[in-house]
Amino acid sequence: MLQSEIDALRATGVSPQQHLIAGVAVESAGGARLDVISPIDGKRLTTIADGDAGDIDRAVQVARRVYDGGAWSRAAPAERKRVLLRFADLVERHALELAVLGVRDNGTEIGMAYKAEPLSAVATIRYYAEAIDKVYGEIAPTGRDVLGLIHREPLGVVGVIVPWNFPLMIGAWKIAPALAAGNSVVVKPPEAASLTLLRLAVLAREAGLPDGVLNVVTGSGATAGEALALHMDVDVLAFTGSGPVGRRLLEYSARSNLKRVYLELGGKSPNVVFSDVPDIKQAAKVSANGIFRNSGQVCVAGSRLLVQSGVYDEFMSELLAVTGKLRIGDPLDLAFDIGAVNSEAQLRKNLAVVRRAEEEGGERLCGGGRLHEESGGYYMAPTIFAGVDSKMKLWREEVFGPVLAVTRFENEEDAVRLANASDYGLAAAVWTGSLRTAHRMVRAINAGVVHVNAYGGTDVTVPLGGFKQSGFGRDKSLHALDEYTDRKTAWIAL
Ligand code: NAD
Repeated sequence: MLQSEIDALRATGVSPQQHLIAGVAVESAGGARLDVISPIDGKRLTTIADGDAGDIDRAVQVARRVYDGGAWSRAAPAERKRVLLRFADLVERHALELAVLGVRDNGTEIGMAYKAEPLSAVATIRYYAEAIDKVYGEIAPTGRDVLGLIHREPLGVVGVIVPWNFPLMIGAWKIAPALAAGNSVVVKPPEAASLTLLRLAVLAREAGLPDGVLNVVTGSGATAGEALALHMDVDVLAFTGSGPVGRRLLEYSARSNLKRVYLELGGKSPNVVFSDVPDIKQAAKVSANGIFRNSGQVCVAGSRLLVQSGVYDEFMSELLAVTGKLRIGDPLDLAFDIGAVNSEAQLRKNLAVVRRAEEEGGERLCGGGRLHEESGGYYMAPTIFAGVDSKMKLWREEVFGPVLAVTRFENEEDAVRLANASDYGLAAAVWTGSLRTAHRMVRAINAGVVHVNAYGGTDVTVPLGGFKQSGFGRDKSLHALDEYTDRKTAWIAL
C-alpha cells in the first residue's frame, strides 16, 4: 500500500448513492437523502438515500421472490461456491479502493482498515464459499424400521444490521454464511458508514450473484432499521450494535413475526496483567493497541486494565510511554497510527465521559481532549484513567472511544472478581508466564473470547460473540452456519 495510491483514491469524488434493490440502483420512494459527513475534516463527502418502510418492503419482497424462485436458494452448493469465490476475488482486487472509501466514511486508520475491512471480508467470503459444499446432513440413529434424515435448509430472507466501526468485516461475517447457505439478504448499513456495503453488493452482482439475492437499503436505524426488524416476511435478523438497540430488536421480533434475532452487542473487556507477565514491553504495546486502535471504537477493545500490584508501576510507565508515542491524525496518511473518531456526536460523548470520570474521582494520567480541531475533523487523544473502582461508571459503561480505565489487584481471586464485575462478557485477555494461571483464568472469566499473552488476535475459523449482555449470536466459524440454516427432519417408515 503506497501513500501515492491512497492519495489518488482519496482525490476522487463520491457520487450520491442510492439503494440497491433487485440489482438496480434506486432512489427512496419518498426521495429523502442523508448527508455523509467525513470524520477526517467534518465536510460533506456525499449523500445516501434515506430509506423508509416502503423501501424496506420493496427490498424484502424482491428478496422473497428471488428466494422462492430458487435461482440461488436451490442452486447446488458447488455452484454457490463458484460465484462466492469469484465475489471474494473481486473484493480482493478492489481492496484498496474499498478501504479508502470506508476510511473517508468512518475515519479508521487506513493500515488497520485495509486489513480489517476488505481483506477480512475476502477471507470470510472465501471461507464460507469453501465450506458450503462440505457440510452434510445427518442420518439419525433410529430403529431399523425407520429412516430419520436431518436436512439442513436455508431460512429465507435474512435481514442484516451492522454498526459503523467495521461495516465490511462485520457485514461479511453475516452476509457470507447467509448467502452460502442459500438465503436472500437485505442489508441496512449504518447511516454513518454505508458506502462500502453498497459497493460490496455491486461487486457481488458483478461476480454473478443473481439480482435480488443481496439488496442494500440505506437510511437511519430509527426508520429503515426499525422497518426491517418489524417486517413480517424477514425470517432472521442478524445484528451487531449497541445493547439498547439490541433490546429493541427483540421487542420488534415479538411484536411482528417472531423472527430469529442474533445479537452481537457491546463490551467492556478486561485486560488482566499478572506480575509474571513474560514481556512487559510487548504486553504494554499490545495493550495500548488493544484499547486505542480505531480510536477505541472496537467492540472487543480492552477498555478495563487490571494490573497486579507487583508490576503496576513498571507496567504503567511502559504503557504511558507507548501511548505517548502514538501519532493521531489524518487516517489516510500513513504517517499516523490512529485516525478519527467516527462523528462529532461520538467525540462529544467521549469528552463527556472524560469529564464524568474526573468527577467520579478517576485520576487522568494522559489525554482527555480533542486534537486537530483546526482540521474540522474529529480526533481525540488516547486517554488513561487510573484509580478506577468497580462502582464507577467508567468501569461499568462502554465508552466506545479511546478511554482506558485502570485498576490494580493483589491476587488471582481479586482479578477474577474484578474482571467479571461487568454486565458485559465479550472479550478478555490475560498476561502471565504461568500456563496454569492462564488456563484457570480462561475458565473463570465470563467472556466469549479470552486471549492469553495477546490482545484481539482472531480469524474466521473461531467464533466471536458475547456472554451476558454482550449478546448471544456467534459470528464466524462453521458454527455461524447454524444461524442461517434450519434443520428439517424426514421420518421415513421403512
Ligand atoms: P447502534 O446500535 O446505534 O447502531 C447499530 C445499527 O443499528 C446501525 O445500522 C443503526 O442504524 C441500527 N439501528 C439503530 N436504531 C435502530 C432501530 N431502532 N431499529 C433497527 N436498527 C437500528 O450502534 P453503533 O453506534 O453503530 O455501534 C456501536 C455499538 O456496536 C457498540 O455498542 C459496540 O460495542 C457494538 N459493536 C459490537 C460488536 C460485536 O461484535 N459484538 C462489533 C462492533 C460494534
